[in-house]
Amino acid sequence: MEKRSELYRGKAKTVFTTDDPELLILQFRNDTSAFDGERIDQLDRKGMVNNKFNHFIMGKLEEAGIATQLEALLADDEALVKKLEMIPVECVVRNRAAGSIVRRLGVEEGLVLNPPTFEFFLKNDALHDPMVNDFHIISFGWATQAQINEMKVLTFKVNNVLSALFDAAGLILVDYKLEFGVDANGNIVLGDEFTPDGCRLWDKATNQKMDKDRFRQGLGGVVEAYEEVASRLGVQLA
Ligand code: ADP
Ligand code: UDP
Repeated sequence: MEKRSELYRGKAKTVFTTDDPELLILQFRNDTSAFDGERIDQLDRKGMVNNKFNHFIMGKLEEAGIATQLEALLADDEALVKKLEMIPVECVVRNRAAGSIVRRLGVEEGLVLNPPTFEFFLKNDALHDPMVNDFHIISFGWATQAQINEMKVLTFKVNNVLSALFDAAGLILVDYKLEFGVDANGNIVLGDEFTPDGCRLWDKATNQKMDKDRFRQGLGGVVEAYEEVASRLGVQLA
């Protein structure tokens, strides 16, 4: 497998083509962005930690029968993945209120959401990733009703698997964002990443934030918190 040209440079990852048209390389960079890319810092080791974290989590999801992009870990900061036609929406599940739902609905941070709630956001930095609903997604042709249904089922299935995994590590999975794409056979497959950059994790005992909110809120110890989560899960970083 040969790395070819740069296909896309996002805020945190760079995507490269390979000699296999169905495979891509995701390079996880140290860049850490917040507020739709308005603030970007370099955090030492973050690319490596997130790449290995993502590989570990996607492996657990595969074991649970969820189709993911996962192919192989190539280097500290690079993974080989299935090339997907990405659906331009973010699927968010919230087990507790935090972040934008607190601002939008004026509820208290930490409020337990029973049942967990689901939101779609359009991936569009210039528009600040506006919330969209199923009708928008269908009217604008971003996905079909069947694909929407499947993304919801899969996103909640991920919640069952990962809430239990993090709970066993003494962590609360507060919320998270997933991105899906369509593979060469037309199947919906989990793409992008699952890392502390795209979810909220609170320590069960202390409620300490162990995710990107440390960066958003200037709390410091960002990568150290990610490493602590990785270590509790048994992710091999060295
Ligand atoms: P952003 O685009 O939000 O700045 P990233 O820096 O994480 O995000 O860039 C990664 C890009 O690669 C995203 O646009 C994402 O949708 C896309 N991507 C992730 N996984 C895959 C995949 N398996 N196939 C094709 N594109 C992917
Ligand atoms: N999220 C993400 N990328 C985005 C927006 C949100 O990974 O572009 C994640 C975020 O880390 C959190 C969840 O999705 O775990 C819900 O985010 P929220 O809507 O609360 O937005 P935020 O407070 O991050 O603006």
